[in-house]
Order: sequence, then C-alpha cells, then structure tokens
Amino acid sequence: MSTANNCAQSVQSVLDWMATEEYKEKNFAREALVINPARTCQPFGAMLCALGIEGCLPFLHGSQGCAAYFRSCLTRHVREPVPMVSDSMTEDAAVFGGQANLIEGLKNAYATYKPSIIGMFSSCMAEVIGDDMKSFIGNARNQGAIPEDFPIAYANTPSFVGSHITGFDNMLKGLLQSLADTRHGKWTNGRLYVVPGFDLYPANLREYRRLITAMGIYMTVLPDFTEALDSPNTGEYKMYQPGTSMAELADALNASGFIFLQKYSTAGTQKFVKNVQKITSEAVTMPVGIRNTDAFLMTLQAMTGKSIPAEIEKERGRAVDAAIDAHQYIHGKRFALYGDPDLLLGLVGFLLDMGGIPVHILCSNGNEPFRKEMEALLASSSFGSEGRVYNGKDLWHLRSLLLTEPVDMLIGDTHGKTVAKDANIPLARIGYYLPDRVHLHRQPIVGYQGAINLITMIANLFIDEYDRNCPEERFEFLR
Ligand code: SF4
Repeated sequence: MSTANNCAQSVQSVLDWMATEEYKEKNFAREALVINPARTCQPFGAMLCALGIEGCLPFLHGSQGCAAYFRSCLTRHVREPVPMVSDSMTEDAAVFGGQANLIEGLKNAYATYKPSIIGMFSSCMAEVIGDDMKSFIGNARNQGAIPEDFPIAYANTPSFVGSHITGFDNMLKGLLQSLADTRHGKWTNGRLYVVPGFDLYPANLREYRRLITAMGIYMTVLPDFTEALDSPNTGEYKMYQPGTSMAELADALNASGFIFLQKYSTAGTQKFVKNVQKITSEAVTMPVGIRNTDAFLMTLQAMTGKSIPAEIEKERGRAVDAAIDAHQYIHGKRFALYGDPDLLLGLVGFLLDMGGIPVHILCSNGNEPFRKEMEALLASSSFGSEGRVYNGKDLWHLRSLLLTEPVDMLIGDTHGKTVAKDANIPLARIGYYLPDRVHLHRQPIVGYQGAINLITMIANLFIDEYDRNCPEERFEFLR
C-alpha cells in the first residue's frame, strides 16, 4: 500500500474517532482552549452602538489592528463602508500609558473628520494597563486638543470579559450617562424610546419603525444605525449617515417610556433607565415569530394605550397563513442553533410555534438567567422536551454534538458552515456574521413579515436539500 493511502487511512480513522461519544467527552472536558466561539469582543458592540447616533465618530482607545478588524467584519456583513478611528496604541503606550495617543488622536479626529460627537471605547490593551479615559478626555480639553464643550461619550469595554453584547450595552449606557440631559421631574417629552439592542439587520429596525408608526406612537429609535448599515448609493460618499439625533439623545431621560427589544444586550442600560432614572420601561423577547410579535405589539399597546390597527392584524393573518401552508416542511424536524441570547430566545420560540424540535442550543455568551429563561421556554411546549442549553461553549463543541446526536438543520451565522458541512446538514444563515451570502441583513426576521421570511427560508432549504438528495423516483415537480 502506498504512503499516500496509509496517510489517508490514518486521517480517516482520526476523523471517525472525532465523531464518537468518547471524543465528545474529551472535547467537553477541555478547559484551556476555545475554538471558534460564537461571539466577538466588547468594542465591536460599542462601535455598532456609536454608529447609531447622527454625526458620531466611533473612536477606539486602543490598537489599530482591533479597529481594522471591527471595521472589516462589519463591512463584509453589510457591504457598506464603516467609519471609525483609533488612537493607534502600540508598545510604547503599553509601557507609558495611552494618554498621549488619546489626546493626539482626538485632536486629529476632530480636525480631520469633523464629527458632531465622538463615542469612545477601549480595547484590551488600554484596559489591561488601566487607562483612565475620563481624565484623559478632560486633559485633552484642557490642552485645547478639542473644544471644552465638544460632546464625547465614553465606555469601558474590556474584551477579556463579556462579549460584543456587553460592549453594546456599556456604550449605550455611556451615551446616556455622558450626553443625556438630567430628567425634568415628572415631565415627559411624550416619546417612546425604542431600543433595538445588538441587531445587525437594518431591515429589523425599519420593521420596528414601520409597525410602531402604524400604531400612531411618537417614537425615537435609540440608537438608530439603520442608515449606517444600509444607506442608498447616491454616487457620493457620506461619512455620517442619519441616525438618532443629538437632540433626541439629549432628551432621552425625559422619555414617556423605554421599550427594550432585546433583554440581554441591554441589561445594564435597562437597570440605569428603570432603577436609577425611574423611567417606565419594558423589555420583551426579541419579536421573532408570531407569538413573540404578538407580545411585542401588546406591550406597546399597554404602554401607550394605542390600538393595533387593522392593517397589522391583516399582516398577522398572512403570517399565520404562511405558517400553515409551510408547516409540513418544518414540523417534527430537529434543529441545532447557536448565536446571541436574545436571538436564540426569539428563534426557539418561533421553532416551537412551528412544531420544530430544538435539540442543541449553544450560546457562547449566555449566562445563567438566559439558561433559566430558555429552559422555561422549552418546558412550555411538548416540542421542547429534547432541547438542551450549552452556555459558554464554542462551535467545536457543537461539532461533536452534531456528529453524535444528529439533527436536520443548523441555524446560525456563517461561522457554522464548516460544522454544517461536516455533519452534512443545511445551514440556515441567521444572525451575525454573514459575509458569504448577500443581502440577508436587508430582509427582516422580526415582526409578522420576519416570521414569513423565516418560514420561507427554512422550508425552502429543506425542500432544496430533498430535491438535491432524493432518489430518482422521488424527484418530483411538486413539493
Ligand atoms: S480581543 Fe482585544 S485584541 Fe482582540 S480585537 Fe478585541 S480588543 Fe482587539
């Protein structure tokens, strides 16, 4: 036998062993190594949040490489240019501190890019050496690098704890703490502040605005990064896209109420708004699927007293019709899912409504409250009895799960394409990061229209798979 054959055989025997329970146990016993986690680091979320304020330049106090990584990832996902600067900390800043970089960086960014506001956050290096951004910004003002009254919001976003959703939350709280005016007692501006959370589907934000406006509610989306992630091509580059205006940000603490459309990516901001500022607020499960959209609209109704118009009721009827028409392709199918806590809660609720069976639910950035909420959701349906939650695990753990306890479909972002291939199952691309398909971020996955889109995507994937793999005698025109 040739050396090449021997080699191929030994590779195959290792691959076979890696599909066994024995290997899965070893894989799950691993402690010191993370392989392909389904999360990224805090500053990425902070960048997204800052992009939602009109005229705001995201500013990373840290290394240039981190800034380039965040920008290139977001650009690949939405296929838009992403403005952001860093103060390029290198070895000398690690030794002497990053104050000189921060002051020089602010001076250059202000003079060159002429922002109306800067949203500053930190990378690991700045946090490891304990840089004090607040006093550095004060010193930059004192030295005349930026005008005394130039608005800057800042947030500490250490990457060695939490994930992108923590960074989003920290930056949002930082924006309110740094730039919102003090609340005027019981007086309100009559606006409902709608907080989408860490959501990289600009179409979702448009869908929220459409539904809430149809109910006649006076509202502000905070932060509103719709245009930053999906702007019209006019042939002319605009560095700053429309977003939440500075005036609406400044007036945020006079809101008549806040509604948070993701609970876990805004947990700290919710506490600040509800417990510290005593503003009426509600947090709902991300409105993915019909049932979660019902709950979202009924919460809006309860908060504002506005009724749900007939046109939205008709939309609901169309979503129910779509679910019935396609239920046979999803009912009884087994799924594995991974992603952020809020998205997973929405998606699992949607699958249970459709009679799908969620089996492996992997959340690299999940915490105990998420586990409890997910387990309660699974327990609420007979289709949830096989579901198991894996907090803090990565996609290599998921690979072992898929090979030892197979499912029919994987739901998650592009990072899962190799494990889906190894397990020989289709991947429904939902979530962030989707650089290998076009325009998925332009189709909403929330609201009744989002439910129709998800049903269409998942059912058609199953049908495509069947058409590609079925025996000749089963290859039919109709499905
Ligand atoms: S983990 Fe740290 S070094 Fe890596 S990209 Fe994030 S901030 Fe930069």
